[in-house]
Amino acid sequence: GTAQIGVTGLAVMGRNLARNLAHHGYAVAVHNRSPERTRKLVAEHGTEGTFVPSESLEDFVASLERPRAVIVMVKAGAPTDAVIDELVPLLEAGDIVVDAGNAHYADTRRREERLREVGLHFVGTGVSGGEEGALRGPSIMPGGSAESYAKLGPIFESIAARVDDTPCCVHVGPDGAGHFVKMVHNGIEYADMQLIAEAYDLLRAGLSASPAEIAEIFRDWNSTDLESFLIEITAEVLAHTDANTGKAFVDVVVDQAEQKGTGRWTVQSALDLGIPITGIAEATFARSLSGHADQRAVARRTFADAAGDPDWRIDDRDGFIEDVRKALFASKIVAYAQGFDHIQAGSLEYDWTIDRGAVATIWRGGCIIRARFLDRIREAYDEQPDLKSLLVAPYFAKAVTDGVPSWRRVVADAARVGVPTPAFSSSLAYFDALRTERLPAALIQGLRDNFGAHTYRRVDADGAFHTEWAGDRTESPA
Ligand code: NDP
Repeated sequence: GTAQIGVTGLAVMGRNLARNLAHHGYAVAVHNRSPERTRKLVAEHGTEGTFVPSESLEDFVASLERPRAVIVMVKAGAPTDAVIDELVPLLEAGDIVVDAGNAHYADTRRREERLREVGLHFVGTGVSGGEEGALRGPSIMPGGSAESYAKLGPIFESIAARVDDTPCCVHVGPDGAGHFVKMVHNGIEYADMQLIAEAYDLLRAGLSASPAEIAEIFRDWNSTDLESFLIEITAEVLAHTDANTGKAFVDVVVDQAEQKGTGRWTVQSALDLGIPITGIAEATFARSLSGHADQRAVARRTFADAAGDPDWRIDDRDGFIEDVRKALFASKIVAYAQGFDHIQAGSLEYDWTIDRGAVATIWRGGCIIRARFLDRIREAYDEQPDLKSLLVAPYFAKAVTDGVPSWRRVVADAARVGVPTPAFSSSLAYFDALRTERLPAALIQGLRDNFGAHTYRRVDADGAFHTEWAGDRTESPA
């Protein structure tokens, strides 16, 4: 075989990834279960580079140079296992199977172990940026062995997005590390979008502004520290007018947010690892809540007059906009700090030694959460690899400190007038809990000892203690 790399699964993602590879001079073997997609790719884009099409998986594998590198880009879950099952007997020791779909990292760990046993490299790889990214340069998060990265690295780095001439691709760590980091990326994306949505909602309620006017505010914000792809497309979506009705587009869309499940995976994993990713969790639950139309309808009827201040109007327009911007930025820093804590916890749990600064670097381009401030995250971890929380790194500590009064005003206003801001509010609560000297967790320990003899530790002595709550209330070491 002569093709340097192969792609099987040629729906939107696989097809664009194959074209991207061809554009960078690689001879790309292409295959799809139903051969129509393969034929279509060659018919429509065959002149863009060197494609080596095959209709059977046998021919596809035979068309690859050794050691073979096969990118599997099919529907996540059972289809991925089915394709792996078909591929494995056709491959030889040292060959590499890349799963570039949205797999759960636990599945990736399982598949990696299984293929390792038969001498194959399995490289679970996060790919972010949607179909446009796959074609023009995604953010690529490969896991798997260092050995496999020696072959894949140069290829992936050449097709990835680039920022300041640095490719948005790095070997994240062994086995499931790449898919884990992709999962957290998506979780952060949920939080970021929820925060943006709350900011929009507050501006709309407080200023009685139209979506088009709010689009202008977001456009302005995109030249501040908030500069990011999501802020940019927020302005675009808010400015869009529905062609059928002439209304603001956002006003004709059903207000029920859907999800494909990566936010849920992130929250589930964080619960297992004991990491409070409250921003991502609130964002995930906010989407669920929005979808409970029946509950919302009865609550709306029951509590029609419950708004705290139905005539809320902001007098100091510019001051309010700046308050919301600062509250958004502080909340966003919290969400990212939590996400990076989650990555660190996963890294420790599975021995991945993930470099968080490198992760921030490869998210600067190609992916949905690409943003200017990721440079600051990389700097923070470069300066202090064992940073306890992103929040306390100098740049972020200053931004948060500077934003605290605005943050409090905005959350207090929202609570007073009744605009729901789950992510803004819980991010502020997280911040306050972290910086508070004494938490009421002490009372919880007392209660646990009272009803369940779960014991507690004292501030002035080592060891665990128990109080005889049902008896004479003497205390004894546990
Ligand atoms: P889909 O997830 O829609 O999957 C369709 C592809 O899977 C087709 O090529 C289909 O083949 C193939 N397939 C399904 N079942 C089987 C099977 N049992 N055996 C062999 N092939 C099978 O494609 P996308 O391009 O949207 O996504 C591919 C992967 O990339 C997914 O894991 C997705 O989660 C992930 N991803 C998608 C993004 C996006 O923006 N769409 C972004 C990032 C990741 P056939 O044509 O024969 O039906």
